[in-house]
Amino acid sequence: MSARAGIVVTGTEVLAGRVPDRNGPWLADRLSELGIELAHIAICGDRPADVAAQLRFLASEGVDLVVTSGGLGPTADDLTAEVVGRFQGRDSFLDEELERRIAAIVEPLLKRWRGLDQAAIEASTRKQATIPVGADVLGPAGTAPGLVVPPVDGHRRPTLVVLPGPPRELQSLWPEAVATEAFRAAVAGRSRYEHRTLRLIGIPESEIAETLRVGEAHIDRLGELEVTTCLRRGELEVGVRYEPPAQAAWEGLLDLVRERHGPQLFSDDGATVDEQVAALLRESQATVAVAESCTGGELAGRLSGPAGASAYFAGGVVAYADEAKASLLAVDPALIARHGAVSPQVASAMAAGAVGRLGADAAVAVTGIAGPGGGTEEKPVGYVCFAARLADGREVARDLVIPGERAEVRDRSTTLAMHVLRALLLGEPAPT
Ligand code: ATP
Ligand code: MG
Repeated sequence: MSARAGIVVTGTEVLAGRVPDRNGPWLADRLSELGIELAHIAICGDRPADVAAQLRFLASEGVDLVVTSGGLGPTADDLTAEVVGRFQGRDSFLDEELERRIAAIVEPLLKRWRGLDQAAIEASTRKQATIPVGADVLGPAGTAPGLVVPPVDGHRRPTLVVLPGPPRELQSLWPEAVATEAFRAAVAGRSRYEHRTLRLIGIPESEIAETLRVGEAHIDRLGELEVTTCLRRGELEVGVRYEPPAQAAWEGLLDLVRERHGPQLFSDDGATVDEQVAALLRESQATVAVAESCTGGELAGRLSGPAGASAYFAGGVVAYADEAKASLLAVDPALIARHGAVSPQVASAMAAGAVGRLGADAAVAVTGIAGPGGGTEEKPVGYVCFAARLADGREVARDLVIPGERAEVRDRSTTLAMHVLRALLLGEPAPT
């Protein structure tokens, strides 16, 4: 049995969708890495009654751990610490040592402002230093401390991990929370799981299902692997979870996937294509440029996403109009007239133009019909051409019809462009 957990994300702005929730998914990943089964993520407003209702629900479901985010600040609507203390049946007290630490953090921050009400500042510091008896204090990361609040002895209740709302603060306090005795005790005595992730491109989910059926016949204990598959951005992600004794079954499955889907399997250690491309460019100390039409800058966004991208990302051109392809990427207008703007020939010329204009070692180009209009019988909506090219003229190209509506075509084109670039850097053929 794995330990079970719930997450309560608080905040009226998150509930209303004005701020997209970044804490629930991030915590879900961390829990999964620890082999803790996540049962629920709830989002509720700041009202104490609503937060308490979520805690009651999760406790009634018998989870071992609840992580909350938000509502730890100094303002009147920040009430999570109080709600959590009351829920665990613990009195609150003013932790004077913590009060001094928070005051020391707040003081330099407030120097910049004149005429602040000193009494009000002291009151909010006291509020943030008022915590449930028996709680572990984490941080503080901003001005608010996080808390780990175990149940009172003898009560069958979850241990509560209380973290601040700003994602950066929440993330920085997490390792400290995991290291507390109370956290360990809450998830102790449960089995540990290994987690593996395979990534494939150009293969439907049903193919993996078939491979699992084939494996059942000759891989011992295959049934002890928990396998989940998920299609995302045109890639197939296969998650495998197992207890250590089933290690040989995992190795057997990996061999079988390699044997049956070798060309489609691009990652057997969970690395994403973005991470692989970044690593390849770093290793070869090469720079890359992009020339984009239908993806409208999304490819540049992905390549420049990782920290340190300036080491390899030269830049890009979004050339939507034919004139832009000609003037910014030196694509011959006659080529466009002959083959059309969406053609393998133009994709190739765009890549060559980007290499030349940006002085990069490599470039990747995308041109396609994202829809919903603009399709023809010969080139329907979703028809997209890719070319990745090195300065010496070596090239990997691909064209295909991508199903889905506009946003999907753009998104999957971006992913495929990353794969075409990856193939070029590895000296492999284009992905199928
Ligand atoms: P603060 O001291 O900043 O008030 P807090 O713990 O009280 O900390 P909240 O008031 O709930 O946190 O949220 C503060 C801000 O942090 C929000 O306005 C929002 O910008 C960001 N934030 C909070 N929760 C989330 C979330 N789940 N996902 C993304 N951002 C969030
Ligand atoms: Mg707040």
